[in-house]
Amino acid sequence: MSGKYDLVIVGGGISGASLLYTTAKFTDIDSIALIEKESELAAINSHSTNNSQTLHFGDIETNYTLEKAEEVKEGAELLAGYLENYDPDREMHSKRSKMVLGVGDEEVAELEERYEDDGFGDLFPKLRPIGREEIGELEPKVVEGRDPTKEMLALQTPDGYVVDYGETTKSFIEEASEEANVDVYTGTTVKDITPTLDGYTIETSHGRFDSDATVVAAGSHSLQMAKELGYGQDKVLLPIAGSFFLADDLLNGKVYTLQMKKLPFAAVHGDADVHDASVTRFGPTAKLVPTLERGRISTVKDFFDVFGLNAAAFLSYANILSDRILLPYVLKNLVYDLPAAGPKAFLPHVQKVVPSVELEDIERAKGYGGVRPQIVDTKNKSLDMGEAKIVGEDIIFNITPSPGASTCLKNAMRDTHTLIDFLGDDYEFDEAAFREDTIGNFPRAE
Ligand SMILES: Cc1cc2nc3c(=O)[nH]c(=O)nc-3n(C[C@H](O)[C@H](O)[C@H](O)COP(=O)(O)OP(=O)(O)OC[C@H]3O[C@@H](n4cnc5c(N)ncnc54)[C@H](O)[C@@H]3O)c2cc1C
Repeated sequence: MSGKYDLVIVGGGISGASLLYTTAKFTDIDSIALIEKESELAAINSHSTNNSQTLHFGDIETNYTLEKAEEVKEGAELLAGYLENYDPDREMHSKRSKMVLGVGDEEVAELEERYEDDGFGDLFPKLRPIGREEIGELEPKVVEGRDPTKEMLALQTPDGYVVDYGETTKSFIEEASEEANVDVYTGTTVKDITPTLDGYTIETSHGRFDSDATVVAAGSHSLQMAKELGYGQDKVLLPIAGSFFLADDLLNGKVYTLQMKKLPFAAVHGDADVHDASVTRFGPTAKLVPTLERGRISTVKDFFDVFGLNAAAFLSYANILSDRILLPYVLKNLVYDLPAAGPKAFLPHVQKVVPSVELEDIERAKGYGGVRPQIVDTKNKSLDMGEAKIVGEDIIFNITPSPGASTCLKNAMRDTHTLIDFLGDDYEFDEAAFREDTIGNFPRAE
């Protein structure tokens, strides 16, 4: 294998695939290759069992500011529109109720304020506050066995898209592959990227590729490759593994609890599996690990490559982990993966959503889960929320913790504009046609 391409995309998860779809179908870029190291597409974080299958709109994620919610909302609508257009038979997604649940005076007041005063009710016309009775009609198990004196309020919407991001990745690739100018190479590892006079040479396990422009959408490995080329020196990663627990048929849709403001990863929530509504999934947990991919010891070395073992990285970790809220949270999460102690320690989180659950009702989901590459800014010694993009000379690197799958098309749209700038005036991006194929199909509130 080898070749010369206008554009090479590294990584066959949902980020790389959505960019392939966007550039192949809606630009006149002449030749595009996507290179993926695994034999299957979407084998890492985009696989359906490795993430929380939530299409994040920002309506029920109480750790998002209004500004962040506005940003994420358009991304979610682009993908929801794609799914409405290409998945009428619901093979890649389901549409169910979703809500964020407040219990007790304090949480109820917080949700009321968010809805009425902070602008979330206006931003999300389909979101509505519902009380105990209606919560019980939609999700009987959320109310059953709960202290009747405790006040309850949920912000609920029917726009609960539950997404198999793995199947969606494959759909993007299929759509793109209908175009004449596209090659997809799986089982091909990128070993090295070297700048040339007019682009990059990409050495892989199966030969050499040359590109005018390159996008690295390799999850955590994007930062590793960026650093090898001298970019992103002010960033390291805090890899946070997430596991899940399973139970039988407890919820009809998605139920979130209120999130901690300081944490960029979602609070524990429960929802019905995208393909089998009788399986309820709770999670994710948040365990600090020194690897870039779940359960792959071989990526410990990659973690240390990205970490860099320098003073700025250590000081940033120390600053972040000494936080009064984060440290106990991280320590508690170390326990959840332990065979006997784990489910016992995790049970109270599940009972927050479904009070009547008992220990024998839940089991750790074996083989589920991924590693979120949370980004640490070593200049400010702070943990960043969400994804990061590094734009270099004719090259883009995307690092994609949550909500990276939800915003993949918005990210692809942005990258496509940047690519057109890289490649020059001979190329065009038909954004109107892209929008018509995607967000144009999103069902708006009457
Ligand atoms: C526990 C958990 C829960 C989450 N929940 C949600 C959620 O509910 N909603 C949401 O929107 N997001 C969620 N996320 C985030 C979401 O999973 C990611 O943002 C998304 O999958 C990222 O897609 P990606 O294509 O960028 O990365 P990946 O899916 O990780 O794909 C990167 C690809 O690059 C390939 N690659 C790496 N190195 C090389 C190399 N050298 N050569 C060739 N290929 C390479 C990998 O094999 C991989 O296939 C969650 C993540 C986790 C871990």
